[in-house]
Formats: sequence, structure tokens, C-alpha cells
Amino acid sequence: MQIEFYGAARTVTGSQHLLTFGEYKILLDCGLFQGRRAEARELNRKLNWDARELDAVILSHAHIDHSGNLPTLIKHGFSGSIYATPATRDLCAIMLMDSAMIQMKDAEHLLKYRDEHVEPLYDIDDVANTMQLFDPMPYHHSFSPVPGMTVTFYDAGHLLGSASVVIEWEEDGVKKRMMFTGDVGRENRPILKDPDKTGDVDFIISESTYGGRLHEVEQDLERSLLSIITDVIKKDGKLLIPAFSVGRTQELIWYLNNLYNRGLLPHIDVFVDSPLAIRATDVFRLHPECFDAQTRSMLYTDDDLFSFPGITYTRDVIASKRINESKKPAIIIAGSGMCESGRILHHMAQYIEKESTTMLFLGYNAPHTLGRKIINGDKEVRIFGNYFTVNAHVYELPGLSGHADHAGMVQYLSDRTISTVKEVFLVHGEPEGQEALAESLKNAGFSSVNIPERGTVITI
Ligand SMILES: [Zn+2]
Repeated sequence: MQIEFYGAARTVTGSQHLLTFGEYKILLDCGLFQGRRAEARELNRKLNWDARELDAVILSHAHIDHSGNLPTLIKHGFSGSIYATPATRDLCAIMLMDSAMIQMKDAEHLLKYRDEHVEPLYDIDDVANTMQLFDPMPYHHSFSPVPGMTVTFYDAGHLLGSASVVIEWEEDGVKKRMMFTGDVGRENRPILKDPDKTGDVDFIISESTYGGRLHEVEQDLERSLLSIITDVIKKDGKLLIPAFSVGRTQELIWYLNNLYNRGLLPHIDVFVDSPLAIRATDVFRLHPECFDAQTRSMLYTDDDLFSFPGITYTRDVIASKRINESKKPAIIIAGSGMCESGRILHHMAQYIEKESTTMLFLGYNAPHTLGRKIINGDKEVRIFGNYFTVNAHVYELPGLSGHADHAGMVQYLSDRTISTVKEVFLVHGEPEGQEALAESLKNAGFSSVNIPERGTVITI
């Protein structure tokens, strides 16, 4: 077995690892590189292998940095199967379509404003063709993508449908077992189950997003939310929550719904103003098999965990604009999570200068994003080319992160016989954090921890 690391090698996007197993080629994830536009476009367009020679793709989860370049593969002639859990398949249907729309609008924008001709990476037809190749496989059911190889999905607890992938094969009469973590979630999160135990393995390809970083001590998220909402009502203001459309938004709605069911949520209008979030919520409703015991038990008394009196899902632009006509206090949940694009910008332009406004950030905001600037306390920000003074109150509740932190990863990877693990490969992280995680893993007893570079080829 040979592994070639092409994406998410010493970086966090573009997850792609090519396995060569005898005469077969299998791709683990096919993520989109994100970052500086021209550079990312080049990386995404140019495949490092002949797509027609690939036999199968095994997909850990639907996040675009893991799935977003699948349509390019299909465009270049890939015709094998894409194996993923049923929930991952369904999330991909809406997320890849959304990604195609973004590519197409981007190309239109460049042509109109910069007279630059850029071919979209892929279009809606490519996405439709991609969806035909999906072969959904539930958790804990082994399957053979190519002869001689057995693959099993385990719940990674990171996103609806997210999986850690265990690959088994035999070489010279010796059984070998390798785990690809995908992205690993945390214990005790809303909706999703805790990450599964995956047992003893010989090799691990592991994510390292939060290497070197610890999440802040879990606060009482419900209590903090309630106190912020009560304050917003008192000030007769708006609560703007920039949230990632898939995952974070549903968790937030789940919390609000739960508070409503227990009679704790004060009356306030809630608007979910993101078409992608609305579609993603529909996919969540379709997959109760991914829910943890607490969330399943809630279904006995509440048949829709993502809806309660006062919540409005706004699909079209007209309804979205109408939100700002309302004079009543309201919660507005909209993308994007880091305020880089999306409908949240329209609401921010409307309300950020008002002292009665509160902005609440729920997750990681990368450096240099508008979200990060506001969290850092910048008093003047640019939205749609105009300057606005930030008079809104700003809060950060990082308790909803979807990734295990440094300590969580060490614990997750160590939950097996460490001495049988011959090699750990760290991917999907920034170099500094990866070094820190490698150090801790060695201290925990792992004999060899590698941080492959882009293009590194390793035979195991
Ligand atoms: Zn992810």
C-alpha cells in the first residue's frame, strides 16, 4: 500500500490522499483548496493523477474542504464509485450545488468588473453527474471498494454523517488496519453522537486542526445564550448571529428549540436567513440515525427539533429584506460564519452602528476575516466598500466548535493499544500546531509521528 499526500498537507484545506493498492487507486477525500483566489484556482483545477484511472473515492464527510473538488474529478473522466454515509451524500447534494453556484457567480463577477475570463471550476451539470456516482454506506457496515480491501465507516461526531474510515487489507498473509480520521468531533455535543472507538490499528492518518490549541473551558452555553437574548429584548434590539450554514446553525436552532420546549425561551422572533442553512436543516431532519440518544428521545415529544413558534426560515431575498422592516427585537441567524460573504453582511450594514444591536460569534474566525476584526474590537469596519462604526455589543461563545482540540485529539488517538501503531501521519493542520500535536503524541507513546508535505509518497 502506498499513500500520496496531495491536499491538506501542512495546511487545512483541500483534503486529498491517494492510496495505491496493487493495481488499484483509491482517493481518500477530494476537498477544495481555499485561500487566495488565483492560487486556489490553480490547485483545484490541476489534478495530480489521471481521474480515469481512479477506481474509487472514499469520502469522510461533506465539508467542502473534503468534498468540494469531486465535480472536477468527474469532469476529468472519473466514473468509479464515491463511497460515503447516506447523510454525507445528502449534504453533498446541496453543498456541491451551492459551491457550483458560487463558482459560476465568481466567474460572472470577474468578467463584469475586471474583464477577466475565468472558467468556473465546475457547473451544475458536473454536480448532477457527481451525485450519480455516490454509493451510500451506513456506519459499521464493511464494504469492498476494490478486491482485497475492506472499508468501514465509524461515526466521527464532527458533522451530520461524518466518518472516520478504517481500511483493512492483507499483505503476505499479514492483516493490516489503517484509520483515516477525517475530521474528529468532540464529546457531548448537541444532536450528534460522540466519536466512535475504532479499535487497534497499524497506521493512522489523522487531522490536526486544533494541534497546539485548547478550547476554552466549556461554559454553560444555554445560560449565556439566555442572558444575551434577555438583554436584547430589554434593549429592544437585534441579535445578529453569523453562523456556518451547515452544522453550527442547526446546533444553535436545536438549543433554542430545546429552551422553548422547557419554557425558558422568552418570546422573540427568530429568523434563519440562509437558503443553504434551510436546505441543510431539511437534510438533518432526514437523518435521525445520526442523532445521539438525547436528541432521539426528544423526538418522542417534539416531532420537529428545528422549529418552534416564533422561528421563520426566509428562503427568498424579498423575505430576507422584510426582516429589516420589523421594529421588534429579533434574532437573525445568517451566513457566512466569518462575515466574509452572505446575507449577514446586509444585516450588519443595517444594524452594526446601533447600540441596541448585539453580535454573537459562535465559532472559529480566521485571522483577517471581518468576523475576527469585530471580535478583536475594531471600531471601524468595511462592509460592501463603505465604512461603518461598530456600536453593537460583541460576544463570543466558542463552545460550539466542531473539532476536538489538542487534548481531545491526543485522547482520541490514544484510545487503543498505542504500541501496535507503527506510524501516525498528521494532515489537515497548520505546521506549528502539527509539531505541537506530534510532540504530545510521542510523549503519549506513539513511536513514529510524521508530518507529510504536499507530494510526499510513503509505502506502508
Ligand atoms: Zn470538517
